[in-house]
Amino acid sequence: MNPTILILGGTMEAAELARRLAPQPLRSITSLAGRTRNPANLDGDVRSGGFGGAEGLARYIEAEDVTLVVDATHPFATQISPNAAKAAELTARPIIRLERPAWQKTEGDRWHEVATLEDAASAIPSGARDMLALGRQHIAAFAARHDVHFVVRMIDPPEAPLDLASYELVLARPGKCGDEEVFLRERRITHIVCRNSGGTASYAKLKAARTLQIPVILIARPPQSFANAVGDIEAVLDFIEAHTGLRLA
Ligand code: NAP
Repeated sequence: MNPTILILGGTMEAAELARRLAPQPLRSITSLAGRTRNPANLDGDVRSGGFGGAEGLARYIEAEDVTLVVDATHPFATQISPNAAKAAELTARPIIRLERPAWQKTEGDRWHEVATLEDAASAIPSGARDMLALGRQHIAAFAARHDVHFVVRMIDPPEAPLDLASYELVLARPGKCGDEEVFLRERRITHIVCRNSGGTASYAKLKAARTLQIPVILIARPPQSFANAVGDIEAVLDFIEAHTGLRLA
């Protein structure tokens, strides 16, 4: 019987892995938390919604006869990864973590690196026009900053008005570097707050900030430890080959 690969997803890397596995003699299942309203189309099978903790995930792995697990969730998703590690242990399945490398500071960057959302909120100077490139669930940490004007950029509209004294909301995806420069100039942004997500999709605003010499308050990734972590899809394909005996073209 063909092996079954469970990809814990919600990231571009997970989508790319599913695409790479599509022509192979195996079944891939991408698991999504179910938060995004219109998730992009994915190759292979897709399931959505929480499993009910590590034990629920372990039951799912057994029920679907999963051969191995790829944890390709977002670096700031901190519950699902330990659950996946535990479920893999409970079911004695191999697991690999695919995590995009963090962005590294380069010459010309004016980064102020902080550990938490709260630290980021404290680090914004009074009177700033601050771009918040964060999801709606992270905005509450900035509610006490009545002395800052926020330009909040999100992909999905929030269900309720944001709990900020002074803000404007822009519903947009990250753009290319030139577009980001225009955005930062037009909105007269003096500071940016964002998370060190890594990857290419949202890096353009950091490049634009470097060009315009805008300070960036960058929230570091939460500390997580993985027994077996890799930074690129090729290494995951090697792992799948090693545990399935398949030769992936
Ligand atoms: P989280 O805090 O680590 O997970 C919370 C709970 O959501 C988990 O305990 C699990 O519920 C469920 N869950 C999370 N990822 C799942 C998945 N891939 N498949 C099925 N259930 C999942 O995660 P989060 O920060 O809320 O992120 C949710 C999803 O969005 C993740 O898949 C992540 O890759 C993606 N994402 C997150 C961020 C971010 O900033 N955190 C950004 C982009 C994309 P049960 O315990 O019931 O199984």
